[in-house]
Amino acid sequence: MSAKPIQDVLVLGAGSAGLLAALSLKRKLPMLNVRIVRSPDIGVIGVGEGTTPNFPQHLFDYLGLNRKAFHTLAEPTWKLGIRFLWGVRGRFDYSFDQQLDHTAPDLRMPNGYYCDDEFRCTSLPSALMWHGKAFAKQENGCPDIEGWHAFHIENEKLVSVLEQVARECGVEIIDGRVTGAERLPEGPIAAVTLEDGQRLAADFFIDCSGFRSELLGKVLEEPYQSFSDALFCDRAVVGGWDRGPDEPILPYTTAEQMDAGWAWQIEHEHHVNRGYVYSSSFISDEQAAEEFRRKNPKAPASPRIVKFRSGCYRRQWAENVVAIGNAGGFVEPLEATALMIVCGNLQSLVEMLNRSRLMPTPGLRDLFNELTGRGWTDIRDFLALHYKLNAAPQTPFWDHCRAETKLGNLTALLDFYEENGPNGFCRYRLSGMQNDFGLEGHLVMLVGNKHPYRARYTPPPDDLARWEARRQHFSAQAQAGLDVKDTLAFIRHPGWQWHGDA
Ligand SMILES: Cc1cc2nc3c(=O)[nH]c(=O)nc-3n(C[C@H](O)[C@H](O)[C@H](O)COP(=O)(O)OP(=O)(O)OC[C@H]3O[C@@H](n4cnc5c(N)ncnc54)[C@H](O)[C@@H]3O)c2cc1C
Repeated sequence: MSAKPIQDVLVLGAGSAGLLAALSLKRKLPMLNVRIVRSPDIGVIGVGEGTTPNFPQHLFDYLGLNRKAFHTLAEPTWKLGIRFLWGVRGRFDYSFDQQLDHTAPDLRMPNGYYCDDEFRCTSLPSALMWHGKAFAKQENGCPDIEGWHAFHIENEKLVSVLEQVARECGVEIIDGRVTGAERLPEGPIAAVTLEDGQRLAADFFIDCSGFRSELLGKVLEEPYQSFSDALFCDRAVVGGWDRGPDEPILPYTTAEQMDAGWAWQIEHEHHVNRGYVYSSSFISDEQAAEEFRRKNPKAPASPRIVKFRSGCYRRQWAENVVAIGNAGGFVEPLEATALMIVCGNLQSLVEMLNRSRLMPTPGLRDLFNELTGRGWTDIRDFLALHYKLNAAPQTPFWDHCRAETKLGNLTALLDFYEENGPNGFCRYRLSGMQNDFGLEGHLVMLVGNKHPYRARYTPPPDDLARWEARRQHFSAQAQAGLDVKDTLAFIRHPGWQWHGDA
């Protein structure tokens, strides 16, 4: 594909995707000349503040960013999972650990079989969520902070920190609006042209232009695949407020069902970020804003409306263009997956460029497209499951979701679960699985929504007593833990030392 090694990379866009792309390429492949072009007039989308655990892993373990500096500048708080105010239980927690895909050595059955009535405190992270704590306390009194957790992080601060780190790594950032592209006779892009007449040539282009998809979508005309038969939401009302003294900083994102969709609540130190994701086929913008304000009296009088579509381009890599972030695809934010996909796809791209000594072959490009394509459809199906299984609210939107949501590759899992219940064999009925949610995430949705299964288990008293003792143990450990505010005080103490920082 490439007759000579790639030398010059141009990233179009400096939202979180563009900056992460430039930083990842420059940090892992320092011989590359990496430039970004971005339009301050167009700006960034400015939403996207919940992450999954692979995001801190990407920043610190993969890219080697300094934890202390990052926490000081970006001021993230910790997210242990998602609290769903959802379905017939009304509430259940998805913590990013093994709550259900787990069998304790002293129990007869996997955890899920004990959760018919009570689904809480099944693991330490889920107990921490239940008690509003971020971390367990170590013997020395410090928070046990090194585990598998995600972040809540304000988009503006994230973008500003990533820009600073990218510049420090040697990435050049050019302000200008791309208005055209020159293509070689064989198809690849040779250069982009800016509004002011400048021409920026490169061997390889990363399209991070957000929903505009300037290179992959517009110039290369890659076909787009809509997920509208599985995910019906297409807009969000966005509006938060400054945190009041009576509002604790919760260590999780809340996802609460609404009349025609659901609302997120993301917890920053000084700000509460709230948004209502809805389907414009079932509710108007005005009705959505009215419901949002009615249920959130602190929300601003005129919240912002953001339009989106769920779907992805057929290929993420065409010719010499790779799309990362919203330019390549987007699924609605129910599990806050966008940055997870950005980081995962960037790691695959960097490793492929590295292993091919910057001369990627057609086979590598095709594999990248196959893996990223499967990644998109797996997440589409996982999100679709959230809607399909929610048996609680009786509104036209939810009736439609239960009846019409297409489950894609998950029908075999659902059939198997309905027969056999929440055991680990379900994993063999999951196809694809190019994401971090794994069987655990799917089981949480099935058990959390009390989806019926036939092979029920009634634990005998001794087994039930051991199960309850485990839950009590986790609960007591969590109750003695530290909340987000306590933990922020620890990491801001001058004597605090992050593991892994040089
Ligand atoms: C309602 C909603 C909620 C979301 N919540 C989450 C969440 O909780 N977690 C999560 O991970 N993600 C979430 N996302 C996704 C989030 O948008 C992305 O994670 C993230 O912000 C990446 O955006 P981006 O960099 O791809 O695009 P953008 O931020 O839109 O950046 C695009 C860049 O391209 C530049 N650009 C565009 N066209 C041109 C041009 N012609 N010339 C020059 N420059 C150009 C722009 O100036 C900008 O710099 C959410 C999205 C929506 C819509």
